[in-house]
Amino acid sequence: MKRVVFVRDKTNKHSIRALLAAYEKWFPEKDYYVLTPQDAFEFLKEDDLALFSFLTGTSSAYIDYVTKLKEKLPKINTVCGGAHPSARSEDMLEYFDGVCAGEGEESIKDIIEMAHSGRVEGIITGKKVLNLDEYRVFPRKMVSLGPIEIVRGCPSGCAYCQTPQLFRGRLRHRSIDFIVEEIKFALSRKGFADVRFIAPDASSYQYNKGINLEAIEGLLYNVRSTIGTKGKLFYGTFPSELDPSGVSKELVDLLVKYCDNKQIVLGLQSASYYMQKIMHRRSGLAETEKAIELLLNKNFEIVVDLIFGLPYETEETYEETYKFIEKWKGRVTIHSHPFDPLPGSRWQYEKSTEVPAKLVKAVKSLEGIGRVFGRVIKDKEKVCRI
Ligand code: SF4
Repeated sequence: MKRVVFVRDKTNKHSIRALLAAYEKWFPEKDYYVLTPQDAFEFLKEDDLALFSFLTGTSSAYIDYVTKLKEKLPKINTVCGGAHPSARSEDMLEYFDGVCAGEGEESIKDIIEMAHSGRVEGIITGKKVLNLDEYRVFPRKMVSLGPIEIVRGCPSGCAYCQTPQLFRGRLRHRSIDFIVEEIKFALSRKGFADVRFIAPDASSYQYNKGINLEAIEGLLYNVRSTIGTKGKLFYGTFPSELDPSGVSKELVDLLVKYCDNKQIVLGLQSASYYMQKIMHRRSGLAETEKAIELLLNKNFEIVVDLIFGLPYETEETYEETYKFIEKWKGRVTIHSHPFDPLPGSRWQYEKSTEVPAKLVKAVKSLEGIGRVFGRVIKDKEKVCRI
């Protein structure tokens, strides 16, 4: 019988957690191993199955890793999945024996069965999970706690983002009862105190042709009642931001009433109306500024995500972002990201534009007052470690 080894690093721990929970559902009697890349390198043997999941940022590191692993163990069976392999499955077959393109919870069953009856090879098309409640958030055989995925998919279709292509079709949501059960389990384990959610847009929970405040309040009320004073509840902040169009006075009141976070993350990306339009974002500058006002009135700290170097930016569009930064200087914090043409996104083959020196300087000037983090220009030499 092949040993099944999940290779986990700090960047893929949420995906691996979901896979472990799914593995336990399909194979309750079978054991598995979860190891860091370094430990796995020493531990793995020729007849093992090594499973990987990664994003574009760590793809080079994983390709390098598996190349070395194959030099050491030529017959080992390696399979990868995740956002990057899903978008570049053919390319990944050069390095891995098998590639899961799409969602992994159902496909892990096929992969393990294939491995036990021989070898996993080729592209396995991931099956879409129709009902998220069929899969636990947390595995039970080992302690792996973390944020809870409440929504899969996004009502927006931003051109630079992988999510719309990765999770096509209608949004899927975990039910409140299911989420509460998982939280009760997590609370029974040592070390779980903060409830955080994973959602491309936290305000899209039970989205139904618009923001569903009733469902959001139901979620927050029930989670708050479950954790009482034993834990903290975070919503609209890392690892799930809020789309500004979802922020209303009523939503802000819910945040004040039920949540512990003082910080809210809003996605703007560019302050230009033209850019918002061609990126197909749901909300633009007007919605963002309205959301900022509402949140500042209740003393939230605001982090605004901006992307620098987006394709099709012009001097005029950059000027609008410059004005936004100057206008809100000292009152909001900017999280800056350099544009990265992510595989699978609509802008995957587009080139970055040059960010005007005036704008770079404006962003840098925020460093002195602690109102910016992240990078404006992509560091070409930087390789993400695993
Ligand atoms: S709102 Fe966020 S998750 Fe949704 S498509 Fe846009 S960038 Fe992606």
